[in-house]
Amino acid sequence: MKKLEELVRPHILHLTPYSSARDEFSGSGGIFLDANENSFGSVIQEKYNRYPDPHQQKIKQKLSRIKKTAPDQIFLGNGSDEPIDLIIRLFCIPAKDNVVVMPPTYDMYSVTATLQEAEVRKVSLTEKYEIDVEEVFRRIDGNTKIIFICSPNNPTGNSFSRENILKIIGNFQGITVIDEAYMDFSDSGGFLDQINDHRNLVILQTLSKAWGLAGLRLGIAYADKEIIKLLDKIKFPYNINQATQEMVLEALEFENRKNELVRAILDQREFLENELKKLRIVEQVYPSDANFLLVRFRDAARVFQYLLDRNIIVRNRSKLVLCENSLRITAGIPEENAALIDQLKKFENEA
Ligand SMILES: *Cc1c(COP(=O)(O)O)cnc(C)c1O
Repeated sequence: MKKLEELVRPHILHLTPYSSARDEFSGSGGIFLDANENSFGSVIQEKYNRYPDPHQQKIKQKLSRIKKTAPDQIFLGNGSDEPIDLIIRLFCIPAKDNVVVMPPTYDMYSVTATLQEAEVRKVSLTEKYEIDVEEVFRRIDGNTKIIFICSPNNPTGNSFSRENILKIIGNFQGITVIDEAYMDFSDSGGFLDQINDHRNLVILQTLSKAWGLAGLRLGIAYADKEIIKLLDKIKFPYNINQATQEMVLEALEFENRKNELVRAILDQREFLENELKKLRIVEQVYPSDANFLLVRFRDAARVFQYLLDRNIIVRNRSKLVLCENSLRITAGIPEENAALIDQLKKFENEA
């Protein structure tokens, strides 16, 4: 890769970050009169009168044990959306630099890049929903700062070939971001172990899916410590609130429970896959490494509306490239999935 100093926006390299009260003194115990907090307490729950740990050390300690990384290779954000935004702002000079995304994929990469006035170069997946590596390398230039790879991919559900991803990490001179939001549902292994060998690699994970904590908003970026230092430099000082930090710290004690939830979801995904394949209105159920299925129907718009009228809400992805007539269906609990299949059978009989 290029030197990190050549990829980062120059003014950020030289920026003196905001220094919070808790940066300047972080000891415990003592009379804290430095942060203009309310020393009397709070209107509810006494403890929320104090600012939270700006560096979330306890969570990073715990995560580093679970994930076998170093605490200084971890950045925590308000959902994965925060690191996506910060990574783009860290590297992309507005109206000059560009990023590569591979549709159909998660929209936030291109929305956030556009917001930052970074050009978005779209390199569609192949018909088989695989990365078109040659086309990616044809489309990049000296101003391509980031390539976003989502694997397992949303909304197609599949993981990309390991070989293709390694070709990109190994040969691209800029930053490769691999979004592993759905990795817990896959046994493809992921790329977290590669951050020690590739200083240009950022792995995104989240507690929103397998851990079942979408409401708490905790996304994680893993990378070489030099990239993490830069993300720390530009984040909001107290970006993870105290309530979330407490709940996450507790939740991380229950990795076994997470694994049980994953098994239950995978069972339900299999049930859905089998049942959907029996329906005449279904043309294809795509293989999934995630907690959802992409399903191609004969007439997705009508199926979507029929389900909606019966209070079953799925995601219509038909407008995305390569997703014609396709609905994305999250695996629910057994009763929900049975209700869905029931209604689809009714639709089929009425059609
Ligand atoms: C759901 C999802 C996320 C998670 O976003 P959070 O902000 O962490 O809730 C990230 N990437 C992809 C591709 C997703 O589908």
